[in-house]
Amino acid sequence: MIIDLRSDTVTKPSQAMLDAMMQVNVGDDVFREDPTVNELEARIAKMFGKEDALFFPSGTMANQTAVKLHTNPGDQVICDKYAHIYNYESGGASFNSGVSCKLIDGSKGMFTAKQVQEAINPDAYYYSKTTLVEIENTTNKGGGACWDFNEIKKIRKVCDDNQLGFHLDGARLWNALVAKNETALQYGKVFDTISVCLSKGLGCPIGSVLVGDSKIMENAIRIRKIFGGNMRQAGYLAASGLYALDNNIDRLKEDHQKAKEIGEELYKLSIIKTIQPIETNIIIFELNDAINENEFVQKLATNNIHIISMGGGKLRMVTHLDYTDIMHDKFLNFLNDANLSNNLKA
Ligand SMILES: *Cc1c(COP(=O)(O)O)cnc(C)c1O
Repeated sequence: MIIDLRSDTVTKPSQAMLDAMMQVNVGDDVFREDPTVNELEARIAKMFGKEDALFFPSGTMANQTAVKLHTNPGDQVICDKYAHIYNYESGGASFNSGVSCKLIDGSKGMFTAKQVQEAINPDAYYYSKTTLVEIENTTNKGGGACWDFNEIKKIRKVCDDNQLGFHLDGARLWNALVAKNETALQYGKVFDTISVCLSKGLGCPIGSVLVGDSKIMENAIRIRKIFGGNMRQAGYLAASGLYALDNNIDRLKEDHQKAKEIGEELYKLSIIKTIQPIETNIIIFELNDAINENEFVQKLATNNIHIISMGGGKLRMVTHLDYTDIMHDKFLNFLNDANLSNNLKA
């Protein structure tokens, strides 16, 4: 049995999801004639109370399209130093949109309205023009932390006062909604655009969706085409999204619970220096200086347990749909093994 905690993207579609995918009507989405893609887009737009939604092959492309929609070359985007759009999208914001990022030194990938206010460039010709604020919920590099919705509303106000767009990278927004008992509708009200992933916690093989009102979304399909993201009979994929919306959101609680339980076991180990607070399905921790990080990861791997290093001494585990109760018991027992600390030191 292989326990793969590297990411919540390692899930494979369940038989029930595959069955749902195989039964749908499809058409050529470039002609906007795929009824299942259209259904998924309409449904997600409605969930967020937005006029439009567009299906994408990846979250990266959905975010990059959003950056392009909100900016012109030379503009500046305000985001956290941990932001996915800055760290993990291959420099796409500068490559695709010709923008720079003003990085906020936030906490667990989050920041305050006051920090946003301070990060806005003065209105002089020799500054780059600040046009977009981007946040992430949950935060990936921030350890799956959830934003305080009141702070988000305050940032919205700063955006309104300064005519800035407001984009949410909601790759794991579903986790935040479940953890904090919030609704998609409330997020739709404060953001201009939101990207959500279907291929993370929701367990779909492929897919993200970008939502927004018609005016801003009007050009999204053109930009998606420029990025090469137009698809044909994508309804088979959209069907996995419809299935996941019906079946895989509430159960995220289970992933969160398992992550907390792993955290409690880790906390007992003498080899662990710090663990970030666990709010959702991501566990980020650091080892004591005496322990070699690569050897630790290797040692787990020889026990068929896979985790990843995030650099800078931080290690990450992510619970997900395919991390079963049996795997969880096995992993907790493994961590609980009295000899473990010594074993891992060797
Ligand atoms: C995974 C992820 C994305 C999108 O990633 P893709 O692999 O392109 O689908 C965007 N933002 C965050 C925070 C993510 O974790």
